[in-house]
Amino acid sequence: METILLLAHTEADGTLAKSAREALHAAATLHQSLAGSKLVVGLVGEDVQAAANSIAASPVTKYLGVAGPEFTQSRYATDAAAAEAICRSAQATVVLAPATARWNRVVAGVAQRLGGRVDTHVTDVGAADGKISVHRWYYRQRMEGNLTRTQRPWFIAVDPGTQSACECEPGTATVEIVAVPLPESCQRTTVLGVRAPAADAQTIRPDAQLLFVTGAGWTKKQADGQTHVPEAEQLILGFLNATRASLGSSKSLVDLGGEGQAVLPFLSHLNQIGQTGSTPRHAKGLSTCCHGEEPHTVGWRFINERRAISLDPNCGWARGKADVLYVGDAFKVMTKVNEILTAK
Ligand SMILES: Cc1cc2nc3c(=O)[nH]c(=O)nc-3n(C[C@H](O)[C@H](O)[C@H](O)COP(=O)(O)OP(=O)(O)OC[C@H]3O[C@@H](n4cnc5c(N)ncnc54)[C@H](O)[C@@H]3O)c2cc1C
Repeated sequence: METILLLAHTEADGTLAKSAREALHAAATLHQSLAGSKLVVGLVGEDVQAAANSIAASPVTKYLGVAGPEFTQSRYATDAAAAEAICRSAQATVVLAPATARWNRVVAGVAQRLGGRVDTHVTDVGAADGKISVHRWYYRQRMEGNLTRTQRPWFIAVDPGTQSACECEPGTATVEIVAVPLPESCQRTTVLGVRAPAADAQTIRPDAQLLFVTGAGWTKKQADGQTHVPEAEQLILGFLNATRASLGSSKSLVDLGGEGQAVLPFLSHLNQIGQTGSTPRHAKGLSTCCHGEEPHTVGWRFINERRAISLDPNCGWARGKADVLYVGDAFKVMTKVNEILTAK
């Protein structure tokens, strides 16, 4: 009989992030398909009661918590100690955690401490005939694998954006607090602060409906023999401001900065999607001025509806991968699109 544990940490304001609700959805679905299984939630944070209350109507049999000021911020030693204590207390055999930066750092270490195994970047979890299996992608999303394990505890880090979020209603949850005695050596690292771009300078928005991808074409010489980088910047930012879309880029465009060419200053390598970039997941995608070869635009596999604007009617990628291809000048098309958006 499996004991499924959903391991989550609270955010700075004491709430649960969408990624935690997504992992809870996966855990609850697994629990439903495994007769006789138990579903336990383990929460880590300064104060975990509000987070537990926010998901009180889920089919959870027990809430465990590790709470206190020393568990507020992400720190390997304290997070690993908290996760280990919760896993032991729950006697968990299967542990699901959202693949946040915080948990990604510790799940492998905790699995090692408990003699378990870990799988990361999991995109689906299921059970058939009492056997649990997970899906994940390999070789930069070119191959999909489905695997099962007999070793317990089995730690599964669920990639954010792959599940729908649990919509369970709030209520009052009873949280059993697990004591974690921390030696001084576990608290040597101190988080002094967080450096993040200003909210309006942040162009990567994982929760956006639309991914807007920019390619090197935006900085290339156009029909008049000139480059038009300031206009490109205005059009791209205008579109992002109007739609709150997330901004992705081809490698060629972000690389141009390093080569001393005119670039768009708001783009960094963090915006790069594809084989050596990120694998964003959004409902829709619009690619502009990209040629984007197949292996390097694999991120598009996880975009449900894909459109592209390119001058090149023979672009194999745009023809083969986009659901809708607009053969046209992106400067003209986006000017018109922004006009329509502003008018609305
Ligand atoms: C090991 C390795 C890893 C790589 N990893 C990645 C990766 O992770 N992600 C990635 O993106 N790439 C990656 N690449 C690079 C990849 O192979 C391509 O070179 C790159 O994606 C092409 O970028 P691009 O489409 O922006 O530029 P280009 O190939 O230069 O294409 C520009 C396009 O813009 C169009 N265009 C120009 N002006 C306009 C206009 N006014 N309106 C409309 N269209 C216009 C042109 O017709 C052209 O199709 C990798 C390469 C290697 C070798």
